[in-house]
Amino acid sequence: MKLESTGWMLKALDFAARKHRDQRRKDVEASPYINHPIAIVHLLWNTAGVQDMTVIVGALLHDTVEDTDTTFEELTQEFGSEVAALVGEVTDDKSLPKQTRKQLQIAHAPHLSDRAKLIKLADKISNLRDMVHSPPSNWSQERRREYFEWAKSVVDQIANPHPVLKGLFEEVYQQGIARFEEEKGSGNG
Ligand code: NDP
Ligand code: ZN
Repeated sequence: MKLESTGWMLKALDFAARKHRDQRRKDVEASPYINHPIAIVHLLWNTAGVQDMTVIVGALLHDTVEDTDTTFEELTQEFGSEVAALVGEVTDDKSLPKQTRKQLQIAHAPHLSDRAKLIKLADKISNLRDMVHSPPSNWSQERRREYFEWAKSVVDQIANPHPVLKGLFEEVYQQGIARFEEEKGSGNG
C-alpha cells in the first residue's frame, strides 16, 4: 500500500470524526457515531479483503452528507469528484418522506456502481449487527424485524454482490431472525 493513500484515508477518518463529533448511535450506551464508519472499513478491509482506498475513503465518509452539515461540494474539494459521487450513491435525500426513502433504496440498489455496492452491503451488515448486539433503545421487536426485512429487500436487489459480504449479511440476518424467535418464545417480544 502506498503511503500516500494511507494519508488520504487518515484525512477521511479525521474529517468524518470531526463531522460526526456531536452524534451518537441509537443504542442504549449512545456510542460515538464514528464507531459505525470505522466498523465498516474494518469489515471491508480486514474481513472481506476489499483493499481499494477509494471504497475505504467513501465508506468513512458515507454518512457525512446524510447526517451532518457536509456538502458534496466540500467532499469534492477535499477528496475529489470520484469520492463525492460514491458518497452520493449511498446518500438518502432527507427532504423526502421516510417511507419514500426506504423504497428508493430498494429501487436504486440494482443500479449501484461496484464500489457503492460494497459500501451499501457493509453498511447493512454493520447496522444489522448493531440491531442484534446493541439495538436502538426502545425499539420494539416488530420495528427491529421490519428493519431486518427492509435491509434484506435492499441487499437482495444488489446484482453480483461480493460473496464474503453477502455471506456475512445472510449470517447476521439469520442470527437476527433466530433471536426474534427466541424472544418470542421467552415472552420478551
Ligand atoms: P431508521 O432509519 O430511523 O433507523 C435505523 C438507522 O439508524 C440505521 O439504518 C442506521 O443508519 C442508524 N442507527 C443508529 N444507531 C443504530 C443502532 N444501534 N443499530 C442499528 N442502526 C442504527 O429506521 P426506521 O425508522 O426506518 O425503522 C425501521 C422500520 O421500522 C421501518 O420499516 C419502519 O416502517 C418501521 N417502523 C416501525 C415503528 C413501530 O413502532 N413499529 C415506528 C416507526 C417505524 P446509518 O447507517 O445511516 O447510521
Ligand atoms: Zn451507515
